[in-house]
Order: sequence, then C-alpha cells, then structure tokens
Amino acid sequence: MTEAPFQFFTLHVLRTTRISPSFVRVTFGGEDIPRLASAGRDQRVKLFFPRPGQDAPVLPGPEDGHWWPAWRALDPAVRGIMRTYTVRELRRESQELDIDFAVHELSPGCDEGPATRWALNASPGDRVGTLAPIHEENDGYDFRPPEGADWILLTGDESALPALAGNLESLPPGVPARVWITLQHAADRCALPTRADARVTWLVREESAPAAEDAIRAADDLPQGTPYAWIAGESATVRAVRRHLVRERGYDRRAVKFTGYWRRGTSEDVLLVTGEDA
Ligand SMILES: Cc1cc2nc3c(=O)[nH]c(=O)nc-3n(C[C@H](O)[C@H](O)[C@H](O)COP(=O)(O)OP(=O)(O)OC[C@H]3O[C@@H](n4cnc5c(N)ncnc54)[C@H](O)[C@@H]3O)c2cc1C
Repeated sequence: MTEAPFQFFTLHVLRTTRISPSFVRVTFGGEDIPRLASAGRDQRVKLFFPRPGQDAPVLPGPEDGHWWPAWRALDPAVRGIMRTYTVRELRRESQELDIDFAVHELSPGCDEGPATRWALNASPGDRVGTLAPIHEENDGYDFRPPEGADWILLTGDESALPALAGNLESLPPGVPARVWITLQHAADRCALPTRADARVTWLVREESAPAAEDAIRAADDLPQGTPYAWIAGESATVRAVRRHLVRERGYDRRAVKFTGYWRRGTSEDVLLVTGEDA
C-alpha cells in the first residue's frame, strides 16, 4: 500500500515568541518532525487543537482510512478543533517547526477564535496535532508561477504574511515582484528576504492606508509582460482584488491564484462545513 501523502503527527510547544504586536510565533517540537516535509512557499498544514478539558486533541487513528471522512466521523463535540496554517519554517535537523499566528483584534463583543486563543495562551509542553505532507512535492501549496510569467504580483493580510514570506523566498534571482501587504500596526512590518527584484508596499491600517484593491488599482507603473498573481487573506478583499485584476486589468484568470484565508464574522468551522471558499 502506498503511504498517504499527508499524515497525522503529534507536536508539542517548545516556546512562543511575540514577534510583533499582531504575531505570536509558536515553535513546535516532536520526534516525528524529521518525517514532515514542506515545499516552502505557501505550504499549508492543518493544526488540531484540544478542546477545553482535553490535554491533547482527539484525532483519527492510522487504521481509520482517509483522514477527512475519518475526522468528520468523530463526535464534533470531542474531535480536535481543526484550523489551517502555513509552515513558516521547518528545521528537520533540530526537530523544530515554526508557525506564525496572527492574533487578530476583534470588535468589542466578538470572540476571537479557538486557534487564536490557543496561540495567545500556549506554553511549553502543550500538545497539538498536525496533518502535514511527507513529500516536498505535494498538493498543499498554491504558489506555482508558470514558466512564461515575466513578473509576480503578491498581496495579502496578516494571515497571509507567513505565506507571502515563503513565496518571496522561493523566487529566483532578479524576477520582478510587486507586493502589497495589509497590516494593522506599523510595528508588524518585517524583513522579507528574497533574491527577487521585489518592491513591497506596506498598507498599515492604523496609518489609514487604502484597501489593497484601491492601492493596486492606483499602481500605474507595474512591470511589463505576463503577470502571475497570488492573492490571499480576508475573503471579500481577496475577491475584490481578483475582480480588479481579471476584469479591469484583463489578466488571464488562470494566472490569478486566489484563496480566502478567513472570512469576517465567520469561523473556519462554518467554512469547512459549507465547503465555501473565496
Ligand atoms: C491555506 C491557509 C493558510 C493560512 N495560514 C495562516 C497562518 O500562517 N497564520 C495565520 O495567522 N492564519 C493563517 N490562516 C488563517 C487562519 O486559518 C484563520 O484566520 C482561522 O480562521 C483562525 O482560526 P481561529 O480559530 O482563530 O478563528 P475562527 O474560529 O475561524 O474565527 C473566529 C472569528 O475570528 C475572525 N477571524 C479569523 N481569522 C481572522 C484574522 N486573521 N483576522 C481577523 N479576524 C479573523 C472570524 O471572522 C471570526 O469572526 C490560513 C488560512 C488558510 C486557508
């Protein structure tokens, strides 16, 4: 029997670091980490969090077959809470995995989600599960610029910053890249190492920056040639940017990869149940 391309692993928290006002980096350890793989870029994994009263998440077993029906078949009141995150850095030699959690601020009266709450309270030894790839080439990443792309357009918010960082790191030397990143706080800006010829525009909400679609619409000096665009973040913004690129700028829709990472007012639980995406 061939090995499943994505498998469950148990992780424990080694340390947490508040890297900026809106981000908590959780560094996980675990003896299975050398078996995990990452394509870099926007490599996604599923994380499974324990429910109140549990000290580890309830996950399907290896004998339960394909993970998705197996997880769905578990009692919703008991099974691990599943959320999607990006591999910020995988260090197999030292058995460490970094995930950067955007710890979003909500309007008064709104409850932050369980993943955010977990990250804010995580301490060494806390356990989570992950469903992660075991091969570098896997279906869990979307940033795939085609051969003929002359330049790259990237945009996203805090939830997409780890993926944006990975995408930029993956680019070959000299490729022109234009990047718009929306953040709440100026202090959330970070270094984005890349060999590409990248120009990054930070759209800081606390400085009353325009919405991403407006900032991109106003750009009149984009590179020449065939673009490849990658858009992620809040679903409505993602849709607005995509609409602008495809309808107003006439980009080939196949060259515009877009993914809603979260939806305002809606938990990922609901998006999963309804199967909705951006
Ligand atoms: C492929 C992929 C990769 C992702 N990678 C990352 C990552 O590396 N880091 C990261 O932080 N997030 C990432 N996300 C987004 C993350 O999965 C969602 O933000 C998720 O909803 C957080 O779960 P939660 O339990 O905190 O909130 P939920 O229970 O899902 O939602 C609770 C409330 O919080 C709101 N909310 C959820 N996310 C945000 C947000 N980012 N900002 C403001 N309000 C929000 C919802 O609208 C809802 O009202 C990724 C999503 C996808 C699909």
